[in-house]
Amino acid sequence: MPTIQTNSYIQDFMDNVKAKNPAEKDFHQAVHEVVESVYPYIVNHPRYKDAKILERMIEPDRIIIFRVCWEDDNGNTQINRGFRVQFSNAIGPYKGGLRFHPSVTLDTFKFLGFEQVFKNSLTTLPMGAAKGGSDFDPKGKSDREVMRFCQAFMTELIRHIGKDTDVPAGDIGVGAREIGYLFGQHKRLTNRFTGVLTGKSLEYGGSLIRKEATGYGCVFFVEEMLKNNEQSIEGKRCVVSGSGNVAQYTAEKVIQLGGTVVSFSDSSGTVYDPSGVTQEKLEFVKALKNERRGRIKEYADKFGCEFLEGKRPWNIECDVAFPSATQNELSLDDAKALVANGCQALGEGANMPTEPDAVKFLIENGVLFGPAKAANAGGVAVSGLEMTQNSMRISWDRNDLETRLQNIMKQIHSQCLQFSTDANGTPNYVDGANIAGFVKVADAMLSYGIQ
Ligand code: NDP
Repeated sequence: MPTIQTNSYIQDFMDNVKAKNPAEKDFHQAVHEVVESVYPYIVNHPRYKDAKILERMIEPDRIIIFRVCWEDDNGNTQINRGFRVQFSNAIGPYKGGLRFHPSVTLDTFKFLGFEQVFKNSLTTLPMGAAKGGSDFDPKGKSDREVMRFCQAFMTELIRHIGKDTDVPAGDIGVGAREIGYLFGQHKRLTNRFTGVLTGKSLEYGGSLIRKEATGYGCVFFVEEMLKNNEQSIEGKRCVVSGSGNVAQYTAEKVIQLGGTVVSFSDSSGTVYDPSGVTQEKLEFVKALKNERRGRIKEYADKFGCEFLEGKRPWNIECDVAFPSATQNELSLDDAKALVANGCQALGEGANMPTEPDAVKFLIENGVLFGPAKAANAGGVAVSGLEMTQNSMRISWDRNDLETRLQNIMKQIHSQCLQFSTDANGTPNYVDGANIAGFVKVADAMLSYGIQ
């Protein structure tokens, strides 16, 4: 139970964050969650409080914003905005994905970059944190337009990244195609073949398991939470939101472990398939989303199941939920529906998909809640392994990498448990992830003195 002193510290802290970063609501939300977890811990470990580590951690090392001009297929000039928020290189080179989506603002990248600090720390690998991207919308663009945009974007970003400085990867709207164009332009302009991006294709330095890593890792994390409760994914009914990279490979691993996936979604609605997604149906989703770039409704049309237009999947009965689309996609009402329908565990595949009051409700009601910075850290972990393979100029095999990924997710789970608080007998993994992620970065910062 937080004391009055704790509450007033958090209030003052957040007032200051809001005054300095007005209108950045997602950033406020991400910081608030961390401060709520970490402040009670640093009260008992005053070296962090005295050195103002938390106050320092919420200021990014630097923010880069730039203009990206490119020519569309009709010869018109198009103007987008590019961003890179280099949040912290306390424990390694900046590392984090690029997102191309029309909704993004500086707020988006500050929240994602801040989350990345703790996530990368939890992976046990030496990676700092950054996030970036653009308000460019790849949807509806031709391949040539995407190529010209990526080349223009990299022409500016190149000044700020490098294999020992900052190593971007993919995120929403940035998949294998975009990484190829970005890497190609970097190679052309520098005349160097270096591991400056991760998520590359296998032919030019990519790692096996990278595309699967976030989804597989999320399922491994949930499996650990369930094991700790003497249960497993096998036989569980799972709802998945999204139908992109994270959703696809979450579904694949659930199926491999003997669970049943009954939904996918995209920004137009949800497909509900009570008979369960099979590997064959999943291959259809992969081709639909990664190659044809179509809408998920086509799944319902092809396999004769229900399409819930404009709806999210949280009203569907399930044992486990995997929000894997985007931030704030699961509200308090959705959380209530999940609990009423018997949901026992949730793994956040997306970043910050669950609204704060929904997180509280789920934990208070005994749902094993795997927060994003722990549950979806598998992607960046395998990116870290891709960097290692590039530096060593070797390629590990698939089994080796999947075992490494599984072990990292187990270690992340153990660290979270070690620092978790107890919520009526259920481990509070949110506190566990925030504190465990904080300690490593904070100790490194203390070593550097005041900077
Ligand atoms: P993709 O672009 O492959 O897929 C995104 C999916 O989410 C699509 O189904 C998309 O639907 C849906 N979506 C995106 N924005 C919205 C929105 N505003 N409302 C409803 N649905 C939306 O992205 P990823 O799978 O890579 O990323 C999904 C989430 O996972 C993000 O939060 C990302 O930050 C996080 N993540 C990704 C990692 C990775 O390795 N890729 C690593 C760690 C976290 P539509 O096609 O209609 O846009």
